Amino acid sequence: MDLDFDRKHIWHPYSSLIDPPPVYPVARAEGVRFFLEDGRGLIDGMSSWWCALHGYNVPELNRAAREQMEKMSHVMFGGLTHEPAIELSRKLVDITPAPLQRVFLADSGSVSVEVSIKMALQYWQSQGKSEKNRLLALRNGYHGDTFGAMATCDPVTGMHHLFASHLTQHLFAPAPRPGFDQPCGDEDIAELRQVIEENHNQLAALILEPIVQGAGGMRFYSPEYLRRARALCDEFDLLLIADEIATGFGRSGKLFACEHAGISPDILTLGKALTGGTMTLAATLCTDRVAEGICRGEAGVFMHGPTFMGNPLACAVSNASIDLLLAGPWRERVNAIEGQLREELAPLADSPAVRDVRSLGAIGVVEMHEPVDMKRVQEALIERGVWLRPFGRMVYAMPPYIINPEELSQLTTAMVEVLAAEG
Ligand code: PMP
Repeated sequence: MDLDFDRKHIWHPYSSLIDPPPVYPVARAEGVRFFLEDGRGLIDGMSSWWCALHGYNVPELNRAAREQMEKMSHVMFGGLTHEPAIELSRKLVDITPAPLQRVFLADSGSVSVEVSIKMALQYWQSQGKSEKNRLLALRNGYHGDTFGAMATCDPVTGMHHLFASHLTQHLFAPAPRPGFDQPCGDEDIAELRQVIEENHNQLAALILEPIVQGAGGMRFYSPEYLRRARALCDEFDLLLIADEIATGFGRSGKLFACEHAGISPDILTLGKALTGGTMTLAATLCTDRVAEGICRGEAGVFMHGPTFMGNPLACAVSNASIDLLLAGPWRERVNAIEGQLREELAPLADSPAVRDVRSLGAIGVVEMHEPVDMKRVQEALIERGVWLRPFGRMVYAMPPYIINPEELSQLTTAMVEVLAAEG
């Protein structure tokens, strides 16, 4: 592979073209591993950023893609429809909380968040309350890199100051304090309540990642907090947007993280693992109330319609991925991964460089006191046959659910060896 060309010409995520970070050439992928050009196999502890639930080169997904490709890879969704989109939408309506009945098929996670924001704004306009046009988001949240989504990300980690002139000014409440296993008292929700109480007349929606705050800090928070946040939205007439782009499809131990709290949002965004990591597709679901409100408004329609909306190939692969997930023992596997991550990462808790070790579902997080040197840590992990992509102080793993105990031990052993040597 021409890595010189890559270094000179190609942007990678969050990268410099003056001082490009190392990129490793991947030739193929199979099961829980991808293989570098030199033949080394690395266990993908990232599931390619939460996506590859079933691992790689999955026969069921490949077959679905091949069969669909021979019928049609793509056809516009304006004025046309097709079986893969209908089947997928039916599945999504069936498996998500019951009030979510209407489906918008989008191209990527960030776009599905844009769609969710537009839905909330159009909804309130149609109710004659166009002053309800700001969002409330949580500190440490992450919802995507496009402008609308970025405006709802944590202002510090999202580096809002760089784009200040173009970013909508939303409101932010502190990140939830009580951890996953902790109760959430009145004092833990007081600041959220106060922002809502003081600003509900201008607030369209509260947007949050239920239970797991991902890219903004890998924090797991109390289901009781989520239940109370839902109740505040009801009390003060805000829509609740749940961003399950990362948590959806079992990652947190429930099929959707909202289930930990037994709540349903008004709008739900899904992406990442929707196609089992094969290609890009996302979805925004909403309730009848939101959909009907929007369509009774001034425009009479929902104002969004991307070129690749409902791409049949992506929908067909999603259908195969959801079938494969639901037909298998995903819950047992995720529980077993959680237990093994907890047990095998525990020794790191005594390491002086480590601030906290935590696991939930198929997510294991080691929070360091200081930011890690990503290049050095990554090289040491690669020597041990493991791929992770730490950011800042966080080194975390969310492996494919098909990982077996020996492979998971290889992953955790590498993390323990490399991180215990830090500091
Ligand atoms: N929301 C959450 C919770 C995410 O984790 C991400 C991706 N990291 C996004 C939104 C954006 O998705 P995408 O990168 O597909 O645009």
